[in-house]
Amino acid sequence: MSHTGTHGMYMAEGGGSTGMSMAGPPPLGHMTAPPPNKYPHSGPTGLTGSTLQPQPEPQPPPPQQVLPNIQPVNVQEVRNILPATPITVSTPLLPQHLRDLNPDPSVFCSTMSTVPATSGLLNKMKLPFAIHIHPFKDSKARECPVINPSTIVRCRVCRAYINPFVSFVDQKHWRCNFCFRNNIVPDNYDYNPQSGKSGDHSFHQELRHSSVEYIAPSEYMVRPPQPSVYFFVIDVTYPTIQSGLLDVFCATLLDCINKLPGDSRTMVGFLSFDHTLHFYNLKPSQAQPQMLVVSDLEDPFIPSPTSLLVNLRESKELVKSFLQDFPRMFVDQRNLQSALGPALAITEKLLHQIGGRITVLMSSLPNVGPGALKVKEATGATKMDQLNMSASTDFYKKLALDCSAQQIAVDLFVFSSKSQSIDLMTVSTVAKFSSGQALVNTVIDATKAYRSNVASTMQGAGAKLTLPVSLRLLPLFILSLLKNIAFTLSNRQNTDCRSATISTILTLPLDWLISFFYPKLYALHTLSDKDTVDSDGEELLAPPILQLSAEKLTRYGVFLMDYGTGIYIWVSKEAPADVINNIFGVPHFGAIPESMTSLPLLENNLNRLTNSLICQLRLSRQHFMPLLVIREDGPHRLLFINYLIDDKTEDGTSYYEFLSHISRQLTK
Ligand SMILES: [Zn+2]
Repeated sequence: MSHTGTHGMYMAEGGGSTGMSMAGPPPLGHMTAPPPNKYPHSGPTGLTGSTLQPQPEPQPPPPQQVLPNIQPVNVQEVRNILPATPITVSTPLLPQHLRDLNPDPSVFCSTMSTVPATSGLLNKMKLPFAIHIHPFKDSKARECPVINPSTIVRCRVCRAYINPFVSFVDQKHWRCNFCFRNNIVPDNYDYNPQSGKSGDHSFHQELRHSSVEYIAPSEYMVRPPQPSVYFFVIDVTYPTIQSGLLDVFCATLLDCINKLPGDSRTMVGFLSFDHTLHFYNLKPSQAQPQMLVVSDLEDPFIPSPTSLLVNLRESKELVKSFLQDFPRMFVDQRNLQSALGPALAITEKLLHQIGGRITVLMSSLPNVGPGALKVKEATGATKMDQLNMSASTDFYKKLALDCSAQQIAVDLFVFSSKSQSIDLMTVSTVAKFSSGQALVNTVIDATKAYRSNVASTMQGAGAKLTLPVSLRLLPLFILSLLKNIAFTLSNRQNTDCRSATISTILTLPLDWLISFFYPKLYALHTLSDKDTVDSDGEELLAPPILQLSAEKLTRYGVFLMDYGTGIYIWVSKEAPADVINNIFGVPHFGAIPESMTSLPLLENNLNRLTNSLICQLRLSRQHFMPLLVIREDGPHRLLFINYLIDDKTEDGTSYYEFLSHISRQLTK
């Protein structure tokens, strides 16, 4: 699997255009902006590579450069719609010198590889035309220049930063490649202090690289750089204590207290809460931590303004002894009342001068003081209300806006039991999601638009459910969205899990998100050295990706599933003893331990390849991917089975039933 292959596994194959879709600079003096909502550079089929800059004379690309992406595919007839080999992200149709300047597609890529030539067709398709940006995604592979210019040059109209794709109209003017307006070149911009020469601005890093990092001058700052501030807000109600969460939190923080990012100015503070607020004086002059309790939740005050947020280096021993003793302070806790709202509000007051990061650990529904919530299931809310996932108070949203304005970030670590809702949707104030029907309509609309505008002229395109090659995976992915906990109408799902999933979806990088919705399934028992591809001189494993269907799970197989945030290994009951021995280092199926979470390193090829694949997947993600080995007869089997999206499940139809459904909608 190549780097770009991982990223664009299911994106359209070459021929279209992704990345920063800007054509080369037009000739000097050409200053006409394009008419609004028109996409120039129209090809004979009405679909072209994306080219947004005005062209003096539109030149349709040769048909063979465009057509592969829009060739018809009757998706109902294809048994294995997933591509056999990884698909690399297509590269924009640019002259070579601009191609080199273009950012890596993993940093900057268009949602469409083939862009409709008119805004009317784009509207009919109902597919979002957007740019996906992942800053620094390529920082390992490419060096990002850090620059500290005296003036940061930006477009006066749209505020775009000057970049390699702007054009210089004359010595005094440059034209923005986003809004096509002319801007004045700053005085002395062509003076190179290193060579002492004038007349050529091409030495500027921002004109040579599409990704640069600016050292922000003071006018870009709300205030001078502040120390790193970590403030921990901890729910100490009964569930937190009883579950052992508080012990785990303290042990973990003790473990990494020396690794908190920051310099010698780094500051820390702690606040715990049940029905009251507990502050901790950790000044280095203290012999031991001092607890200060505030019980006024309506208008809480800060009991000791200068001693609650302390310099970590100066107070480290006190902080360590606090973390060692903290869990024991609440061993007899039976309180179920949680004043999360007041705890967060007072923390915001404490940090508002300096900013920082608030880390919240919680297990209970906030139920006292401002921001108190009621258990949704108990308030008579209908199932539909619960599915709509609306926040029941704007307390947390207002607080979030206040925090944001003060440069305060809040991380929630939420641990709720299945039986106890904590109304995460309100606490996390995530906007409500629309229902799944909109997703189904998107397939239908895309198919109709394709049929009426493009396919009518092509042989074989008249079949009922025909999509262009580039969209052939759309129905499969829509189905995977519909079956995901974020969108499913099934009421088996806990609303807190749903909210957590929605929050996850809104923040995951694209490559990760694709696996999150439609996991990648690989057979391990057939893994061999032949399953490698060369990616920029590096050998990577790229075994065939299997459809997520029980029919792919042979009775004697061992399979690896990458579900975005983690990895499952599925072991079938009849997997041969030598395969099991090679991978897991145990003699037979029955000897594989329950809840095995790592593989041994053994002296055989299958074990080496399996560990390499796991390592490769983990390196491709920003967060650690946990591993779980699942035996076919084990208690965790449903975790794996529920991901067999192609099959009929409790949460929805099979893939082929879904295609029939779309097909029927088309004839209505
Ligand atoms: Zn502009």
